[in-house]
Amino acid sequence: VTWHIPENSLWRYVAGQLAEVDSWSAELHLERCRPCRDRLATAMAATPLAAVLDAVRADVTAHLPRQGAVRRGDKYRRAIILLAAGPGLRGAWSLAMAAVLLTAATLDVVSRLNGGLTGALLILAPVLPLTGVALSYGPRTDPAFQALAATPLGGFPLLLWRTTAVLAVSIPLATLAGVATGTARPGTWLLPAFALTAGTLALGSRVGPARAAAVLGTSWLVAATWSLRVPEAAGLFADSLQPAWFAVAVVCTGVVVLRRRAFALLPTPWETS
Ligand SMILES: [Zn+2]
Repeated sequence: VTWHIPENSLWRYVAGQLAEVDSWSAELHLERCRPCRDRLATAMAATPLAAVLDAVRADVTAHLPRQGAVRRGDKYRRAIILLAAGPGLRGAWSLAMAAVLLTAATLDVVSRLNGGLTGALLILAPVLPLTGVALSYGPRTDPAFQALAATPLGGFPLLLWRTTAVLAVSIPLATLAGVATGTARPGTWLLPAFALTAGTLALGSRVGPARAAAVLGTSWLVAATWSLRVPEAAGLFADSLQPAWFAVAVVCTGVVVLRRRAFALLPTPWETS
């Protein structure tokens, strides 16, 4: 740069007295010339405007609200916040699940007292975790999903955390109901529950956890109801089938781990519809 803004023009620019066209060329030059910007700053510091700006800055700084005490996010607290932020783990889901279990337990007890078939708990217990998983992760149910999907692991660890939390709430509740009524031995429905949960995640890596839970949950309800109505068909709860449920759970878990990166790529509702 060989040309610089003449001292005279600079002062008139600061005073707002430079002709408009000259101001434009001065500003164009200022954008590219550091020495002239420094000269402008020096010139500005000598004007009444600078004193006003200083006063405003001092006033604003003096009246800023004091910063509140922010608790440090240690590992434990971070986990709690991440888990609690999942839509599926808010109080409503736990309450709804408790209500469903209570209803099923009541049906079973009443049915047994009347000499009828029990099985409401047995049918419902394995699908309860699915509702939690469906609500916990994915573009349809988690408003923060896009932000999660942008993280290096696409929120996969969070998906596992939330699934674990869902199981940690639903399995003990269902066990309690089953033992209290004596109509649903955990040994009968636990492996189907794990298999269905792992299956929901495996299928969910393709179609999203919400859809996967709807498909598998409905299929289970239909098959389990039929199975209990037709005792000679051995049924989904037969002891001989338990190893198969275990195998399904293991295979689906393997699929989930292999496809862990697919969860971040789930299409959002506005992309699919
Ligand atoms: Zn210059």
